[in-house]
Amino acid sequence: MSYVNMEAILENARKDHYAVGAFNIVNYLTAKAAVEAAEELNQNIIIQTSVKTVKAFGIQEMMGFLKPIAENARVNVAIHLDHSTDVAFTKACIDGGWSSVMYDGSQLPLTDNIKNTMEIVAYAKPKNVTVEGELGAIVGVEDDIVVKEGDHAHAKPADCRIYLKETGVDAFAPAIGTAHGVYKGEIKIDYDLFEEINEFSLCPLVLHGGTGLSDEMFHRLIGLGASKVNISTAIKIAYCQGMATFSKENPDQNDPLKLDAFTKQAVKKVVTEHIRFFSLMD
Ligand SMILES: [Zn+2]
Repeated sequence: MSYVNMEAILENARKDHYAVGAFNIVNYLTAKAAVEAAEELNQNIIIQTSVKTVKAFGIQEMMGFLKPIAENARVNVAIHLDHSTDVAFTKACIDGGWSSVMYDGSQLPLTDNIKNTMEIVAYAKPKNVTVEGELGAIVGVEDDIVVKEGDHAHAKPADCRIYLKETGVDAFAPAIGTAHGVYKGEIKIDYDLFEEINEFSLCPLVLHGGTGLSDEMFHRLIGLGASKVNISTAIKIAYCQGMATFSKENPDQNDPLKLDAFTKQAVKKVVTEHIRFFSLMD
């Protein structure tokens, strides 16, 4: 199969009422674990990188090890930039080889968000790169973007109609009450709002803040039209806890390859569970 953008992957998901997992990977090991999990289940996958992760490696270096993983995969793989609030950096990643980007102007006034998103779409389209946009505010911490509980705002349908029509984004993340990071307290999701937006949206919808949602919540949202589900925190936990568990169980083991193999399996297990669930294999 091949290295692709999100278009075909998400259109098929939307048509057939399942969701594609978009996993925030942090390095070679987590990217390889995620793609191997997808290959074993024969499902397409989106691996995504936070801005912070890309900056830690450098654009060229990161794409240098991600691209061969995608190109050599037996399933379709998209490499997506998650939550970029910086127009110049988003363009640099498009130039650097990402097949898809999210420009997140959700903290800006609607007109500025639309203007910047349009600029990214115009830059991305000729290069066959897909663009995801966001409206409303998804609470929690993602990268260095902090949205406090009290500042949360669900996407307004009227604004969504304008945003979608003006920008022509390929995928859309409306804020409906999900949160980034680990949930504290009760989760309140506006299912009616999500359904309403999906009915008039021409492009597939994206669900952010997937870690911590119950199976029932996922099922309901996928049933209502979520075509891409982002999973970040669960990957971070699997990676760090995998390493910690190995070191605890094998205090005298100093072979890094054994540590890596164990940790990779831990990440793969989490990715596998999510893909099975999103693609309604269970
Ligand atoms: Zn997000």
